[in-house]
Amino acid sequence: MPLVTTRQLLDEAAKGGYGVGAFNVNDMEQIQAIMEAAKETNSPVIIQASRGARKFAQDNYLYHLMLAAAELYPEIPLAMHLDHGNSFETCESAIKLGFTSVMMDGSLKPDGKTPATFEENVEITKKVVDYAHERGISVEGEIGVLGGIEDGHGAGGSGLDHVTDPDQAVEFAERTGVDSLAIAIGTSHGAYKFTKKPDGSVLKMDLLIAIHKRLPNTHLVMHGSSSVPKDLQDIINQYGGKLKETWGVPVEEIQIGIKNGVRKINVDTDNRLAITGAIRKVFAETPEKFDPRDYLTPARAAMQKVVAQRMTQFGQAGHAGDYKAISIADMAKGYASGSLVTKPLVTAK
Ligand SMILES: [Zn+2]
Repeated sequence: MPLVTTRQLLDEAAKGGYGVGAFNVNDMEQIQAIMEAAKETNSPVIIQASRGARKFAQDNYLYHLMLAAAELYPEIPLAMHLDHGNSFETCESAIKLGFTSVMMDGSLKPDGKTPATFEENVEITKKVVDYAHERGISVEGEIGVLGGIEDGHGAGGSGLDHVTDPDQAVEFAERTGVDSLAIAIGTSHGAYKFTKKPDGSVLKMDLLIAIHKRLPNTHLVMHGSSSVPKDLQDIINQYGGKLKETWGVPVEEIQIGIKNGVRKINVDTDNRLAITGAIRKVFAETPEKFDPRDYLTPARAAMQKVVAQRMTQFGQAGHAGDYKAISIADMAKGYASGSLVTKPLVTAK
């Protein structure tokens, strides 16, 4: 299937009542792992690249690898998404390159560290939405500030420092016209999310439910949603790693989110852990090996296993063949005519 917009994938997910994993990539093996997992589970999928990934891989490599994925897996609906765009220019360059959706993270200033004001966030996000929609590209915004830091991006601190205010979420969605909205409900980026197993009181699921009630037509996005499974941590530590004990977001909590409007779930850390554990194991058990394929092959397989598992848990498995691609040109027409404009349809508080 040609690359499609995240908006189309999320509209379909909303109809089907499931979530779609958005998996971060930096290189060919990660893209291959995701596509094989999508094929194995018959899943639509979002592949996303951060500014750090674009710097690491270079835009042209990333874009052509994505095109190769679309070409090799014509049966899989695939969106190429920019994760955490920090400025209009970052989003514009991604769109010009061929990304089919972008995130404008206006919750932070362009330095990617300092929390921005609400008005600054509305202004920059609206600017990106206007530019993107004219070109048929969908946009994710963020309201509230996530905790932690990943790829040099993030305010740091706890995920509970700046949770999303539902009134602001409604006003933000109305004023910007974003297709999807990342909300802060206590999650953070990176591996060290929680120092004990989080329960419903640590993750503000009540807040998520309140936001969804008031914005039933806006697709919600959970960032920092790796589960950081203990078995993946253990493999790393068993073979010489030194990870401190940590907890991620339990899959059951994500599934509650999916029942309440969460359509896109960002996962990066779990795949990093799987890859690193597999490579460490080869290095430790067969130190005489030096062909990169000897450790990249099991690393890719380990990531594929995690991704396939998440696809099943999020409910996207089995849905790849449900629909036909809407072309980017037709998406642009839809935005222009108003038929794709997200109407917050605010319900009672
Ligand atoms: Zn994020």
